[in-house]
Amino acid sequence: MTNFSIDTHLSPIKKEKPNWGELEFGKVFTDHMFIMDYKEGKGWHDARIVPYQPITLDPAAMIFHYGQTVFEGLKAYLAKDGRILLFRPEKNMQRLNRSNDRLCIPPIDEDLALDALKQLIAVDKEWVPTVEGTSLYIRPFIIATEPYLGVSASASYRFMIILSPVGSYYKEGIHPVKILVENEYVRAVSGGTGEAKTAGNYAASLKAQETADQKEYSQVLWLDGVEKKYIEEVGSMNIFFKINDEIITPALNGSILPGVTRDSIIALLKYWNIPVSERRISIDEVMDAYRDGQLQEAFGTGTAAVISPIGELLWNNEKMIVNGGKTGELSKKLYDTLTGIQKGDLEDPFGWVT
Ligand code: PMP
Repeated sequence: MTNFSIDTHLSPIKKEKPNWGELEFGKVFTDHMFIMDYKEGKGWHDARIVPYQPITLDPAAMIFHYGQTVFEGLKAYLAKDGRILLFRPEKNMQRLNRSNDRLCIPPIDEDLALDALKQLIAVDKEWVPTVEGTSLYIRPFIIATEPYLGVSASASYRFMIILSPVGSYYKEGIHPVKILVENEYVRAVSGGTGEAKTAGNYAASLKAQETADQKEYSQVLWLDGVEKKYIEEVGSMNIFFKINDEIITPALNGSILPGVTRDSIIALLKYWNIPVSERRISIDEVMDAYRDGQLQEAFGTGTAAVISPIGELLWNNEKMIVNGGKTGELSKKLYDTLTGIQKGDLEDPFGWVT
């Protein structure tokens, strides 16, 4: 799409900003949002930035009935010199289009979406929080809007971007989490929607998360949907293990979300000449390595926490205490390096920061 212009209607009211030191995740929203509509025959049209407000949808809108929707999640950081930095945002737009393809949603123009995102952030730049560890979370999403109860792909859609200042994931410094290996429910199967970022995957995960919450585990680790044997990913993170000198992460197999952080960690490890394998790894292999004293570290990767060291894995009532329940050296180094690049404190040899 060329010669594209975004109409901007500024909000007459500026909401009061919260205390940046007390931010939680995803509860406060900025003054504006981006909207663009799609209609069959007309394509994507009417790109606009408008005051943040509720939207009206027909009760028959297909999103409510069959869940035809996709979303993304990324962050903007305020650098010490006052610049607002985005971390590999083009990767999120590419993934949005891959999710679109899986959900039969018409593709968006990735450059346009990125431009819209930058313009929206420029309008709401005072909402990028200034306290150490905080950031502006960005949520692009698309919903099916056609009022029709037939099960088919919608003829109309709405693409929106909303922004939410979020607090530091680690208020008292990076610390390990406890993970429950899920042995009853599954998240996704090969051929399903696991590698798309779509609401249904998350709705399907709530039941297992509820059990994890009750047992005071922070997230579940999903095993493959067929044999419940091979490791897939954590609730909202990809996973890595350090077994002796090998760093292992499950290969992308169609049912795992291809994380931007996962991809960045692999690139960083390769840059440091640390061997990293993307391969199938079973929970039994991890358990055997643990019993033999070879499981040195485990950590999750994702936009929210960047790196989440795993201090404990519970599998069939057997606890694996990883690295004495403490943050491993490699996890810490990866965390410091990646967050340093994201915030503009460290050199960015990959050209990841915009
Ligand atoms: N897996 C799932 C299921 C997720 O929701 C996320 C968060 N987007 C991730 C992995 C990590 O992906 P990313 O590094 O792109 O945030």
